Amino acid sequence: MKVLIVNAGSSSLKYQLVDMDNEELIAKGQVERINIEGSNLKQKAPDGKVTVEYKEPIKDHVVATQLMLKALQESGVIKSMDEIGAVGHRVLHGGEEFCESCIITEEVKACIRKFIPLGPLHNPANLMGIEACEAVMPTTPQVAVFDTAFHQTMPPKAFMYGVPYEYYKEMGVRRYGFHGTSHRYVSKRVCEFLNIDPVGKKIIVCHLGNGSSLSAVVDGKCVDTSMGLTPLEGLLMGTRCGSCDPALVQFIANNKNMTPDQVLNMMNKESGLLGIAGEGTSDMRDIDSLADGGHERASLARNMLYYQLKKLIGSYIAAMNGVDVICFTAGIGENGPELREAVMSEFAWLGVKIDKEVNNCKGKEVVISTPDSKVTVCVIPTNEEIMIARDTKELVEKL
Ligand code: ADP
Repeated sequence: MKVLIVNAGSSSLKYQLVDMDNEELIAKGQVERINIEGSNLKQKAPDGKVTVEYKEPIKDHVVATQLMLKALQESGVIKSMDEIGAVGHRVLHGGEEFCESCIITEEVKACIRKFIPLGPLHNPANLMGIEACEAVMPTTPQVAVFDTAFHQTMPPKAFMYGVPYEYYKEMGVRRYGFHGTSHRYVSKRVCEFLNIDPVGKKIIVCHLGNGSSLSAVVDGKCVDTSMGLTPLEGLLMGTRCGSCDPALVQFIANNKNMTPDQVLNMMNKESGLLGIAGEGTSDMRDIDSLADGGHERASLARNMLYYQLKKLIGSYIAAMNGVDVICFTAGIGENGPELREAVMSEFAWLGVKIDKEVNNCKGKEVVISTPDSKVTVCVIPTNEEIMIARDTKELVEKL
Protein backbone atom coordinates (compact mmCIF):
# COMPACT_ATOMS: atom_id res chain seq x y z
CA MET A 1 0.00 0.00 0.00
CA LYS A 2 1.18 3.50 -0.86
CA VAL A 3 0.51 5.98 1.95
CA LEU A 4 0.56 9.72 1.49
CA ILE A 5 1.66 11.68 4.56
CA VAL A 6 0.43 15.25 4.78
CA ASN A 7 1.58 17.97 7.15
CA ALA A 8 -0.49 21.06 6.45
CA GLY A 9 0.52 24.45 7.83
CA SER A 10 -1.31 27.73 7.47
CA SER A 11 0.48 28.58 4.21
CA SER A 12 2.29 25.36 3.44
CA LEU A 13 1.66 21.70 2.74
CA LYS A 14 4.44 19.17 3.14
CA TYR A 15 3.95 15.68 1.82
CA GLN A 16 5.66 12.34 1.45
CA LEU A 17 4.62 9.28 -0.46
CA VAL A 18 5.78 6.06 1.15
CA ASP A 19 5.55 2.50 -0.12
CA MET A 20 4.41 0.66 2.99
CA ASP A 21 5.23 -2.76 1.54
CA ASN A 22 8.90 -1.96 2.22
CA GLU A 23 8.59 1.35 4.13
CA GLU A 24 10.54 3.13 1.41
CA LEU A 25 10.15 6.79 0.58
CA ILE A 26 8.94 7.28 -3.00
CA ALA A 27 8.83 11.08 -3.19
CA LYS A 28 8.57 14.11 -0.98
CA GLY A 29 7.44 17.61 -1.65
CA GLN A 30 6.34 20.89 -0.31
CA VAL A 31 3.82 23.52 -1.36
CA GLU A 32 4.82 26.92 -0.03
CA ARG A 33 3.25 30.35 0.19
CA ILE A 34 -0.34 29.18 -0.26
CA ASN A 35 -2.47 32.26 -0.93
CA ILE A 36 0.65 34.44 -0.80
CA GLU A 37 2.52 35.99 -3.72
CA GLY A 38 5.17 33.60 -5.05
CA SER A 39 3.38 30.33 -4.25
CA ASN A 40 5.12 27.22 -5.50
CA LEU A 41 5.45 23.47 -5.32
CA LYS A 42 8.69 21.54 -5.27
CA GLN A 43 8.91 17.77 -5.30
CA LYS A 44 12.02 15.70 -4.80
CA ALA A 45 13.02 12.11 -5.37
CA PRO A 46 14.40 10.16 -2.38
CA ASP A 47 17.95 11.10 -3.48
CA GLY A 48 17.07 14.80 -3.08
CA LYS A 49 16.91 15.55 -6.82
CA VAL A 50 14.13 18.00 -7.70
CA THR A 51 11.71 16.19 -10.02
CA VAL A 52 8.83 18.65 -10.26
CA GLU A 53 8.61 22.37 -9.75
CA TYR A 54 5.55 24.56 -10.25
CA LYS A 55 5.47 28.30 -9.79
CA GLU A 56 1.91 29.50 -10.03
CA PRO A 57 -0.81 31.06 -7.90
CA ILE A 58 -2.09 28.55 -5.32
CA LYS A 59 -5.10 30.11 -3.72
CA ASP A 60 -5.94 27.53 -1.07
CA HIS A 61 -5.24 24.07 0.31
CA VAL A 62 -7.61 22.42 -2.18
CA VAL A 63 -5.57 23.78 -5.09
CA ALA A 64 -2.37 22.79 -3.23
CA THR A 65 -3.71 19.25 -2.85
CA GLN A 66 -4.68 19.07 -6.54
CA LEU A 67 -1.20 20.24 -7.50
CA MET A 68 0.40 17.72 -5.17
CA LEU A 69 -1.50 14.91 -6.91
CA LYS A 70 -0.59 16.35 -10.30
CA ALA A 71 3.08 16.45 -9.32
CA LEU A 72 3.00 12.86 -8.05
CA GLN A 73 1.51 11.75 -11.37
CA GLU A 74 3.70 13.91 -13.60
CA SER A 75 6.85 12.67 -11.92
CA GLY A 76 5.66 9.15 -12.74
CA VAL A 77 5.73 7.86 -9.16
CA ILE A 78 2.02 7.06 -9.45
CA LYS A 79 -0.08 6.60 -12.56
CA SER A 80 -3.34 7.60 -10.95
CA MET A 81 -4.39 8.81 -7.55
CA ASP A 82 -6.21 5.51 -6.98
CA GLU A 83 -2.80 4.08 -6.18
CA ILE A 84 -2.77 6.06 -2.95
CA GLY A 85 -4.24 3.65 -0.41
CA ALA A 86 -4.63 6.14 2.41
CA VAL A 87 -3.63 9.58 3.64
CA GLY A 88 -2.08 10.15 7.08
CA HIS A 89 -2.35 13.67 8.46
CA ARG A 90 -0.15 15.16 11.12
CA VAL A 91 -2.44 16.99 13.54
CA LEU A 92 -1.06 19.16 16.31
CA HIS A 93 -3.62 19.05 19.08
CA GLY A 94 -5.92 16.24 20.05
CA GLY A 95 -6.61 17.50 23.56
CA GLU A 96 -7.59 14.70 25.95
CA GLU A 97 -9.77 13.13 23.31
CA PHE A 98 -7.10 11.20 21.43
CA CYS A 99 -4.52 8.91 22.99
CA GLU A 100 -3.83 7.31 19.64
CA SER A 101 -4.25 7.83 15.91
CA CYS A 102 -7.67 7.34 14.33
CA ILE A 103 -9.58 7.20 11.06
CA ILE A 104 -10.95 10.65 10.30
CA THR A 105 -14.72 10.98 10.61
CA GLU A 106 -17.01 13.99 11.04
CA GLU A 107 -16.72 13.53 14.84
CA VAL A 108 -12.93 13.51 14.66
CA LYS A 109 -12.96 16.71 12.62
CA ALA A 110 -15.34 18.27 15.14
CA CYS A 111 -12.85 17.44 17.91
CA ILE A 112 -9.93 18.90 15.97
CA ARG A 113 -12.06 22.01 15.54
CA LYS A 114 -12.90 22.02 19.25
CA PHE A 115 -9.19 22.13 20.07
CA ILE A 116 -8.48 25.16 17.88
CA PRO A 117 -8.22 27.37 21.00
CA LEU A 118 -5.40 25.06 22.22
CA GLY A 119 -3.66 24.96 18.85
CA PRO A 120 -4.72 28.21 17.19
CA LEU A 121 -2.06 28.20 14.48
CA HIS A 122 -1.86 24.53 13.60
CA ASN A 123 -5.26 22.94 14.13
CA PRO A 124 -7.08 25.16 11.58
CA ALA A 125 -4.33 24.46 9.04
CA ASN A 126 -4.41 20.73 9.77
CA LEU A 127 -8.18 20.80 9.22
CA MET A 128 -7.74 22.62 5.93
CA GLY A 129 -5.33 19.89 4.83
CA ILE A 130 -7.80 17.17 5.82
CA GLU A 131 -10.75 18.84 4.12
CA ALA A 132 -8.75 19.53 0.98
CA CYS A 133 -7.75 15.87 0.72
CA GLU A 134 -11.35 14.79 1.35
CA ALA A 135 -12.50 17.10 -1.43
CA VAL A 136 -9.91 15.91 -3.93
CA MET A 137 -9.77 12.22 -2.88
CA PRO A 138 -13.26 11.56 -1.53
CA THR A 139 -12.98 7.77 -1.42
CA THR A 140 -9.48 7.53 0.07
CA PRO A 141 -9.41 6.82 3.82
CA GLN A 142 -7.83 9.56 5.93
CA VAL A 143 -6.09 9.11 9.26
CA ALA A 144 -5.20 11.67 11.93
CA VAL A 145 -1.98 11.27 13.92
CA PHE A 146 -1.79 13.66 16.85
CA ASP A 147 1.31 15.34 18.24
CA THR A 148 -0.21 15.22 21.71
CA ALA A 149 -1.41 11.58 21.74
CA PHE A 150 1.72 9.84 23.07
CA HIS A 151 1.76 12.09 26.14
CA GLN A 152 -1.78 11.20 27.18
CA THR A 153 -0.46 8.48 29.51
CA MET A 154 1.04 11.10 31.85
CA PRO A 155 -0.40 10.93 35.35
CA PRO A 156 -2.33 13.98 36.66
CA LYS A 157 0.51 14.90 39.03
CA ALA A 158 2.66 15.46 35.93
CA PHE A 159 0.13 17.18 33.71
CA MET A 160 -1.70 19.46 36.13
CA TYR A 161 -0.67 23.08 36.70
CA GLY A 162 -0.96 24.61 40.14
CA VAL A 163 -3.84 26.91 39.23
CA PRO A 164 -7.39 26.33 40.56
CA TYR A 165 -8.67 22.92 39.52
CA GLU A 166 -11.75 24.43 37.86
CA TYR A 167 -9.60 25.82 35.05
CA TYR A 168 -8.67 22.28 34.10
CA LYS A 169 -12.29 21.15 34.12
CA GLU A 170 -13.69 24.24 32.39
CA MET A 171 -11.03 24.97 29.78
CA GLY A 172 -8.69 22.02 29.67
CA VAL A 173 -5.83 23.97 31.23
CA ARG A 174 -3.12 21.31 31.64
CA ARG A 175 0.14 20.07 30.17
CA TYR A 176 -0.42 18.27 26.87
CA GLY A 177 3.07 18.01 25.41
CA PHE A 178 4.03 17.96 21.73
CA HIS A 179 6.43 16.14 19.36
CA GLY A 180 4.59 13.04 20.60
CA THR A 181 5.05 11.13 17.36
CA SER A 182 8.81 11.70 17.54
CA HIS A 183 9.00 10.71 21.22
CA ARG A 184 6.98 7.59 20.47
CA TYR A 185 9.13 6.65 17.48
CA VAL A 186 12.47 7.23 19.24
CA SER A 187 11.53 5.57 22.55
CA LYS A 188 10.30 2.50 20.65
CA ARG A 189 13.07 2.42 18.06
CA VAL A 190 15.84 2.64 20.66
CA CYS A 191 14.52 -0.55 22.30
CA GLU A 192 14.58 -2.36 18.95
CA PHE A 193 18.03 -0.97 18.24
CA LEU A 194 19.39 -2.08 21.61
CA ASN A 195 17.38 -5.29 21.49
CA ILE A 196 15.81 -4.63 24.87
CA ASP A 197 12.25 -4.95 26.18
CA PRO A 198 10.62 -1.56 26.81
CA VAL A 199 8.88 -3.05 29.85
CA GLY A 200 10.85 -2.19 32.94
CA LYS A 201 12.99 0.42 31.15
CA LYS A 202 13.32 4.09 32.01
CA ILE A 203 14.11 6.18 28.95
CA ILE A 204 14.65 9.90 28.42
CA VAL A 205 14.17 11.21 24.88
CA CYS A 206 15.73 14.60 24.11
CA HIS A 207 14.11 15.95 20.93
CA LEU A 208 16.27 18.99 20.16
CA GLY A 209 15.37 20.86 17.00
CA ASN A 210 14.05 24.34 16.29
CA GLY A 211 11.46 23.38 18.86
CA SER A 212 12.73 21.16 21.64
CA SER A 213 11.12 18.87 24.17
CA LEU A 214 12.06 16.05 26.48
CA SER A 215 10.03 13.08 27.52
CA ALA A 216 10.38 10.55 30.32
CA VAL A 217 9.20 7.12 29.22
CA VAL A 218 8.64 4.14 31.55
CA ASP A 219 7.52 0.74 30.24
CA GLY A 220 7.13 2.34 26.79
CA LYS A 221 4.68 4.93 28.13
CA CYS A 222 5.21 8.64 28.55
CA VAL A 223 5.16 9.73 32.20
CA ASP A 224 6.29 13.33 31.75
CA THR A 225 7.21 15.80 29.04
CA SER A 226 8.54 19.34 28.98
CA MET A 227 6.21 21.17 26.60
CA GLY A 228 2.94 22.23 28.16
CA LEU A 229 -0.43 23.66 27.25
CA THR A 230 1.41 25.04 24.25
CA PRO A 231 4.87 24.31 22.79
CA LEU A 232 6.28 27.37 24.59
CA GLU A 233 7.11 25.59 27.83
CA GLY A 234 10.26 23.68 28.68
CA LEU A 235 13.71 24.14 27.22
CA LEU A 236 15.15 27.26 25.67
CA MET A 237 14.55 26.76 21.92
CA GLY A 238 15.47 28.39 18.62
CA THR A 239 13.06 31.28 18.99
CA ARG A 240 10.99 30.28 22.07
CA CYS A 241 11.96 31.31 25.57
CA GLY A 242 10.93 28.05 27.24
CA SER A 243 9.92 27.97 30.90
CA CYS A 244 10.08 31.22 32.82
CA ASP A 245 8.23 33.01 35.60
CA PRO A 246 4.67 33.54 34.29
CA ALA A 247 4.72 37.01 35.88
CA LEU A 248 7.10 38.04 33.08
CA VAL A 249 4.10 38.41 30.78
CA GLN A 250 2.45 41.14 32.84
CA PHE A 251 5.74 42.78 33.81
CA ILE A 252 6.94 43.11 30.22
CA ALA A 253 3.47 44.07 28.95
CA ASN A 254 3.26 46.90 31.49
CA ASN A 255 6.78 48.17 30.93
CA LYS A 256 6.80 47.96 27.16
CA ASN A 257 3.17 48.92 26.65
CA MET A 258 2.51 45.62 24.94
CA THR A 259 -0.58 43.42 25.05
CA PRO A 260 -0.29 39.90 26.50
CA ASP A 261 -0.67 38.59 22.94
CA GLN A 262 2.29 40.67 21.82
CA VAL A 263 4.40 39.44 24.73
CA LEU A 264 3.48 35.85 23.93
CA ASN A 265 4.36 36.43 20.29
CA MET A 266 7.75 37.79 21.36
CA MET A 267 8.25 34.76 23.63
CA ASN A 268 7.44 32.40 20.77
CA LYS A 269 9.20 34.10 17.89
CA GLU A 270 11.88 36.50 19.13
CA SER A 271 13.31 34.73 22.14
CA GLY A 272 15.40 31.63 22.76
CA LEU A 273 18.77 31.31 21.02
CA LEU A 274 17.71 34.08 18.61
CA GLY A 275 16.81 36.55 21.34
CA ILE A 276 19.74 35.85 23.62
CA ALA A 277 22.49 35.79 20.98
CA GLY A 278 20.99 38.80 19.17
CA GLU A 279 22.57 38.06 15.80
CA GLY A 280 19.39 37.43 13.82
CA THR A 281 19.82 33.66 13.81
CA SER A 282 18.18 30.85 15.73
CA ASP A 283 20.18 28.16 13.95
CA MET A 284 22.34 26.14 16.34
CA ARG A 285 25.09 25.88 13.73
CA ASP A 286 25.37 29.69 13.65
CA ILE A 287 25.19 29.92 17.44
CA ASP A 288 28.00 27.37 17.68
CA SER A 289 30.26 29.14 15.24
CA LEU A 290 29.61 32.53 16.83
CA ALA A 291 30.26 31.12 20.31
CA ASP A 292 33.41 29.33 19.16
CA GLY A 293 34.60 32.65 17.71
CA GLY A 294 34.25 34.33 21.11
CA HIS A 295 30.79 35.92 20.72
CA GLU A 296 29.71 36.39 24.33
CA ARG A 297 25.97 36.38 23.92
CA ALA A 298 26.00 33.39 21.57
CA SER A 299 28.12 31.64 24.15
CA LEU A 300 25.61 32.60 26.85
CA ALA A 301 22.74 31.27 24.71
CA ARG A 302 24.55 27.98 24.27
CA ASN A 303 25.43 27.74 27.94
CA MET A 304 21.81 28.42 28.88
CA LEU A 305 20.65 25.63 26.59
CA TYR A 306 23.21 23.15 27.96
CA TYR A 307 22.41 24.09 31.56
CA GLN A 308 18.64 23.87 31.11
CA LEU A 309 19.00 20.56 29.32
CA LYS A 310 21.12 19.19 32.17
CA LYS A 311 18.55 20.32 34.74
CA LEU A 312 15.65 18.84 32.81
CA ILE A 313 17.39 15.50 32.29
CA GLY A 314 18.24 15.50 36.01
CA SER A 315 14.62 16.17 36.92
CA TYR A 316 13.42 13.25 34.80
CA ILE A 317 15.99 10.94 36.36
CA ALA A 318 14.52 11.98 39.71
CA ALA A 319 10.94 11.61 38.42
CA MET A 320 11.61 8.03 37.26
CA ASN A 321 13.90 7.09 40.19
CA GLY A 322 16.63 6.34 37.68
CA VAL A 323 17.33 6.06 33.98
CA ASP A 324 18.45 3.24 31.70
CA VAL A 325 18.68 4.97 28.32
CA ILE A 326 19.07 8.58 27.20
CA CYS A 327 18.35 9.30 23.51
CA PHE A 328 19.20 12.34 21.43
CA THR A 329 17.17 13.14 18.35
CA ALA A 330 16.07 15.89 15.88
CA GLY A 331 18.32 18.46 14.17
CA ILE A 332 20.50 19.43 17.12
CA GLY A 333 20.26 16.09 18.93
CA GLU A 334 21.30 14.13 15.85
CA ASN A 335 23.94 16.54 14.57
CA GLY A 336 25.41 18.06 17.72
CA PRO A 337 28.22 15.92 19.12
CA GLU A 338 29.49 18.92 21.13
CA LEU A 339 26.18 19.37 22.93
CA ARG A 340 25.84 15.64 23.58
CA GLU A 341 29.32 15.40 25.04
CA ALA A 342 29.05 18.60 27.08
CA VAL A 343 25.70 17.72 28.62
CA MET A 344 26.40 14.03 29.17
CA SER A 345 29.77 14.74 30.82
CA GLU A 346 27.78 16.55 33.54
CA PHE A 347 26.35 13.14 34.49
CA ALA A 348 29.73 11.53 35.20
CA TRP A 349 28.65 11.41 38.87
CA LEU A 350 25.92 9.00 37.77
CA GLY A 351 28.38 6.79 35.92
CA VAL A 352 27.57 8.10 32.43
CA LYS A 353 30.58 7.70 30.13
CA ILE A 354 30.64 8.88 26.54
CA ASP A 355 32.93 7.43 23.88
CA LYS A 356 34.16 10.68 22.33
CA GLU A 357 35.21 9.07 19.07
CA VAL A 358 31.93 7.26 18.51
CA ASN A 359 30.04 10.37 19.56
CA ASN A 360 31.75 12.36 16.83
CA CYS A 361 29.12 11.51 14.25
CA LYS A 362 26.00 13.00 12.73
CA GLY A 363 22.57 11.72 11.81
CA LYS A 364 22.93 8.01 12.40
CA GLU A 365 21.73 5.44 14.91
CA VAL A 366 24.54 4.84 17.34
CA VAL A 367 25.31 4.07 20.98
CA ILE A 368 27.61 6.87 22.12
CA SER A 369 28.22 5.64 25.67
CA THR A 370 31.04 3.25 26.56
CA PRO A 371 30.25 -0.40 27.39
CA ASP A 372 30.90 0.28 31.10
CA SER A 373 28.66 3.39 31.20
CA LYS A 374 25.90 3.06 33.85
CA VAL A 375 23.43 4.58 31.41
CA THR A 376 23.20 3.77 27.70
CA VAL A 377 23.28 6.95 25.65
CA CYS A 378 22.13 6.79 22.02
CA VAL A 379 21.53 8.92 18.97
CA ILE A 380 18.33 7.86 17.19
CA PRO A 381 17.36 9.95 14.14
CA THR A 382 13.68 10.67 14.43
CA ASN A 383 11.20 9.59 11.79
CA GLU A 384 7.76 10.99 12.47
CA GLU A 385 6.68 10.30 8.90
CA ILE A 386 7.18 6.57 9.14
CA MET A 387 5.20 6.54 12.38
CA ILE A 388 2.33 8.39 10.67
CA ALA A 389 2.50 6.01 7.71
CA ARG A 390 2.54 2.92 9.93
CA ASP A 391 -0.44 4.11 11.99
CA THR A 392 -2.28 4.95 8.79
CA LYS A 393 -1.65 1.58 7.19
CA GLU A 394 -2.58 -0.29 10.36
CA LEU A 395 -5.86 1.56 10.83
CA VAL A 396 -6.85 1.38 7.18
CA GLU A 397 -6.16 -2.35 7.00
CA LYS A 398 -8.65 -2.84 9.84
CA LEU A 399 -11.43 -1.06 7.94
P1 ADP B 1 12.44 21.42 13.29
O1 ADP B 1 12.09 21.56 14.73
O2 ADP B 1 12.10 22.61 12.46
O3 ADP B 1 12.05 20.09 12.68
P2 ADP B 1 15.15 20.40 13.09
O4 ADP B 1 14.88 19.15 13.87
O5 ADP B 1 15.49 20.30 11.67
O6 ADP B 1 14.02 21.46 13.31
O7 ADP B 1 16.35 21.15 13.84
C1 ADP B 1 16.84 22.36 13.46
C2 ADP B 1 18.09 22.66 14.29
O8 ADP B 1 19.01 21.61 14.09
C3 ADP B 1 18.79 23.95 13.93
O9 ADP B 1 19.17 24.62 15.11
C4 ADP B 1 20.02 23.49 13.17
O10 ADP B 1 21.11 24.30 13.44
C5 ADP B 1 20.25 22.11 13.72
N1 ADP B 1 20.80 21.27 12.66
C6 ADP B 1 20.15 20.73 11.66
N2 ADP B 1 20.97 20.05 10.83
C7 ADP B 1 22.16 20.16 11.33
C8 ADP B 1 23.44 19.68 10.94
N3 ADP B 1 23.61 18.94 9.85
N4 ADP B 1 24.45 20.02 11.74
C9 ADP B 1 24.27 20.74 12.86
N5 ADP B 1 23.08 21.20 13.26
C10 ADP B 1 22.05 20.93 12.51
